[in-house]
Amino acid sequence: MTPEKVARRIIELFPRTSKDRDPFRVLIKTILSQRTRDENTDEASKRLFSRYKTVEDLARASPEDLYDLIKPAGMYRQKAARIIEVSRKILKDFSGKVPDNLEDLTKLPGVGRKTANIVLWVSFKKPAIAVDTHVHRISNRLGLVETKKPEETEVSLMKILPRSLWGPLNGSMVEFGRRICKPQSPKCSICPLKNECDYYHRLRASKSKENSPG
Ligand code: SF4
Repeated sequence: MTPEKVARRIIELFPRTSKDRDPFRVLIKTILSQRTRDENTDEASKRLFSRYKTVEDLARASPEDLYDLIKPAGMYRQKAARIIEVSRKILKDFSGKVPDNLEDLTKLPGVGRKTANIVLWVSFKKPAIAVDTHVHRISNRLGLVETKKPEETEVSLMKILPRSLWGPLNGSMVEFGRRICKPQSPKCSICPLKNECDYYHRLRASKSKENSPG
């Protein structure tokens, strides 16, 4: 299978769509989602947005006001401080509107390419590949890319995949990574892409070498 077909297959098998496209909520939710599970992010976002509806509301708040609301997402002190900083910057430098381009998004405190690319795709439907640990790991295991850092993975994937697949790939690979291609102990035996996977072929080759007599 070509890289494009492999990517299409992952998107087909592990669809993931976001209902909420509001740029500010997507951005804040992405900050809340760092190092926690989806259920925790959803719970924390629900509690936060039930109290604070707009960028102005959050820009006026103090980090301590958010602690209880966002506790389910973990690291709540850092996340609360970040959310307030980001809200204030958006209000001050971008007239209260989340920017719709990578350059300005990455000027927001603590917003890197991954978060920016999620906002660009989910909220503005601009082609962008958000590379997190799942996308980086899976792309390398499958042999789609051979890279050391997520930024290199982003560039390499952009070269080999059509723009129409850039956006949906993140959500689908995250889902695939959570369910099958886990960081530790990937479930290769039940993986629908094992025949296309370099990691799996290497694993089998080393096992058959171990088992061969002499
Ligand atoms: Fe991941 Fe294993 Fe599937 Fe390869 S075969 S993509 S390593 S789960």
